[in-house]
Amino acid sequence: MGNYGIDIWSDDNFIIEDGLAKINFNCKPSLISIVKDIRKQDFKGPLLLRFPHITKKQINTLYNTFNASIKEYDYKGTFNAVFPLKVNQLPNFIHPLITEGKKFNYGLEAGSKAELVIAMTYNNVGSPITVNGFKDKEMIHLGFIAKSMGHNITIIIEGLNELEIIIEVLNETKMECPNIGLRVRLHSGGSGLWAKSGGINSKFGLTSTEILEAYELMEDNNLVKHLTMIHFHIGSAMNSIKPLKKALREAGHIYAELKNLGATNLDSINIGGGLAVEYNAYERTRFYSLTEFANDVIFTLKDIARQKGVDEPNIFTESGRFISAASTVLIAPVLELFSAEYDFDHLKLKPINPPLIQELNDLHRDMSKRTAYEYMHDSIDHMESLLTLFDLGYIDLQDRSNAEILTHQVIKKAISLLEIDDYEELKKLDENIQEKYLLNFSLFQSLPDYWGIDQEFPIMPITHLDKKPTRSASLWDITCDSDGELPFDLKKPLYLHDVNLNKEDYFIGFFNVGAYQDTLGMKHNLFSHPTEVNIVFKNGEVVLEKILESQKIIDILEDIDYDTNDIRARLRKNLNDHNYKDMEKYLNENSYLKTIWSYHE
Ligand SMILES: *Cc1c(COP(=O)(O)O)cnc(C)c1O
Repeated sequence: MGNYGIDIWSDDNFIIEDGLAKINFNCKPSLISIVKDIRKQDFKGPLLLRFPHITKKQINTLYNTFNASIKEYDYKGTFNAVFPLKVNQLPNFIHPLITEGKKFNYGLEAGSKAELVIAMTYNNVGSPITVNGFKDKEMIHLGFIAKSMGHNITIIIEGLNELEIIIEVLNETKMECPNIGLRVRLHSGGSGLWAKSGGINSKFGLTSTEILEAYELMEDNNLVKHLTMIHFHIGSAMNSIKPLKKALREAGHIYAELKNLGATNLDSINIGGGLAVEYNAYERTRFYSLTEFANDVIFTLKDIARQKGVDEPNIFTESGRFISAASTVLIAPVLELFSAEYDFDHLKLKPINPPLIQELNDLHRDMSKRTAYEYMHDSIDHMESLLTLFDLGYIDLQDRSNAEILTHQVIKKAISLLEIDDYEELKKLDENIQEKYLLNFSLFQSLPDYWGIDQEFPIMPITHLDKKPTRSASLWDITCDSDGELPFDLKKPLYLHDVNLNKEDYFIGFFNVGAYQDTLGMKHNLFSHPTEVNIVFKNGEVVLEKILESQKIIDILEDIDYDTNDIRARLRKNLNDHNYKDMEKYLNENSYLKTIWSYHE
């Protein structure tokens, strides 16, 4: 794998040129040039780069594909979409999305009161707002308030009690009623990792009995005219369209039945989210294109409408991952290569050495391309024997240190001599000879789904891409938690470059991290959100917008409810002026590491 699977996962958003990862847009700047610009302003540590042009591209693709399909099938309903805020609520992501979405009337979906407040405040008036999730009276009242602001809002009820609350709020406030949607509990489940969002045992939605009861309740309270939408969401990252088609049939028939019962203003089916994103760098795992997806939705709904003699419904989608994932890249500086300690400079051979150490030295000296593989093997065997000798007390710590250095040097030399042809054989050894790269980031903060649900993300260094990566790599984060590791995996091997960090910088990019990671991330070890920057293009030039520095240590402590006045007072009392001044400086810096190495560009 010479190109880190970029042709599989990047959707042409990024390209490799002149050995550098570049943004395939406008003036095609390299990621490293952007990283250097930001670091020049003294933002060390991990960076989250956001690319609003990619969000825009996804919004355009979504609308254009569905609208083309509507045209092709001469479909009478309209296509509408909302962005589900739970996928990424951060202002630096949301503001550009709202601006770009205006021309399509792209709206927002809220699943909590806080998200609803974002939607009420920032959604383009007239663009739809949908409200999902469990709701109390306050949340429903918020929906009424949004309606009074002129928002086109639909409260999607998850249970009969929510309808009862709507009636209560209506009677108490005499405010205008928002549109009402019904989330249906489908008999057919989803597919993929998150399938439990759909299906009869799902956490959400009304059963058929409840739908009929809800309809009756609406009739009794003169609310049928507000019923506009049927909703379902069968789960995230659907890897096949088949379950969606089943769900569509079911929901489509429910829609038609309710229309035939007399729900005259019911005109929409909201198919939820779930469009998949390619995270794999080794083989394609997406089985459908957006065109196929759109065609299937339109064809199925058209067919049901014809069969039941009802109007073809407007279509709503709530895809979040598809819109946001590709827009964000995490860049983590490599702080250290584990084997750097095994540099030749540290070798201190004695006048007389134990025979095995002498042999290691010879293996290194005499190695040729032809003998490289065999000698490397021998050195690993020798190393194991030497460790046993150490445990038995036959060699001392200096011998052990020399043995470790020599073995690492033998392996390094062998890897540099061996050609790609020998790779298959080399691979068998990769687990033993892997290099550990220490990265300045927290896996818990920045890739929580890797930790929580084994979600993989594309990984690629952003420089050196014209050189063969020779080291099988494990990645360590800087938390003090052994789970903060992306171990080398023989089935999906990651190879990185053998770099000397005394002489050059090396940065690892994690791609497609714009969905869910930002607010799922946790402050384990009190590492907070990385410094984030929006990368925009103006007149053919890169402009860094909205630089938001990683949180200061004192603010992190305040966030977890420490009394910062008390912290300062206690430190002040126990430190002299000079040390307190330094202390105050550190309290105002973020908690990521600066650089371990003294190298500066
Ligand atoms: C989470 C969620 C979405 C978004 O799902 P994606 O897989 O990110 O597209 C949409 N609708 C509802 C109701 C959700 O809960």
